[in-house]
Amino acid sequence: MQMARVVLFLLGLSFAVSAQSADTGTAHKAAATALLNSNNSGAARLACPATISAAPTPNPPGGGRGRGAAGPASVPARDTWYAEGGQVFDNLYLLTTKTNSAWAVNTSAGIILIDTLFGYAAQDEIVDGLKRVGLDPANIKYIVVSHAHGDHDGSVKFLQDTYNPRIIMGPKDWELAAREANPPRRDMDATDGQKLTLGDTTITIYITPGHTAGTLSVLVPVKDHGVPHLAMEWGGTALGANTSREMLQSYISNAGRFMDIAEGAGADVIIVNHTEYNDALARLERTKARKPGEPNPWVVGKAEVRTYLTVVQECAKSWLAIGDGRP
Ligand SMILES: [Zn+2]
Repeated sequence: MQMARVVLFLLGLSFAVSAQSADTGTAHKAAATALLNSNNSGAARLACPATISAAPTPNPPGGGRGRGAAGPASVPARDTWYAEGGQVFDNLYLLTTKTNSAWAVNTSAGIILIDTLFGYAAQDEIVDGLKRVGLDPANIKYIVVSHAHGDHDGSVKFLQDTYNPRIIMGPKDWELAAREANPPRRDMDATDGQKLTLGDTTITIYITPGHTAGTLSVLVPVKDHGVPHLAMEWGGTALGANTSREMLQSYISNAGRFMDIAEGAGADVIIVNHTEYNDALARLERTKARKPGEPNPWVVGKAEVRTYLTVVQECAKSWLAIGDGRP
């Protein structure tokens, strides 16, 4: 009798525990949403399913938009996309449209560019954007492409032809890029854990498949008035009902792996390649208005970096559960 009571108690306890952490789309989205705050607002909205239903309406994954270099016919009016970038750290500059961000890492031996925006923004945002902050686009030595979607690799061909930098992409994303209308010439394959050194700066590149099969995420050392920090970029965020089960599983495991890597390395800054994922434009305005002695708005702390990656991971778990019939 006593034993039966213990067994019933344990059964009840395990039921309560599993109910609390139910592996359903609803529960994972709720977990992601609960983690949102002003430092990572947007991450769940863009990576989590908009609505939870047993049979989700197919959504084009973030990848669907803007594939390939934009031809003249698809150039939108400038005032719909133009935004002014600016300096964020001593050695890091945001080059941005209203929706997409690229980053210039300035080193003692030239510039490492991370992503390139749509092709139509190459002149105004990359070339003129660098000049506006006092940098010379001819000093771009490397371009690291987070993934081969047009909103990130659209200007690669133009920059490659104009300034002849080395281009680094995930091997699988070189294959994706090769299908574009006017593809860049294949150059360097990224490797997982690759250290890319230019002058006094070494960034580290990780292959984190999920958004695409060769998505790259990076760690970038930065300085704020000489004080060192470490920036983390999760290279591909959005998911959709069309994202395969295999890619979702890869996304989940790589988000977890990169979470540990970023934490181990001491990352305390989140940078993004879509402005919405981290309120980048508002954060830039706060940076420009910053007074001496005030904190840098991009330094969010190590715990927030982990929280951000937990949010995107929970969103992927939400998509996976829905796909498996557990809304
Ligand atoms: Zn994409």
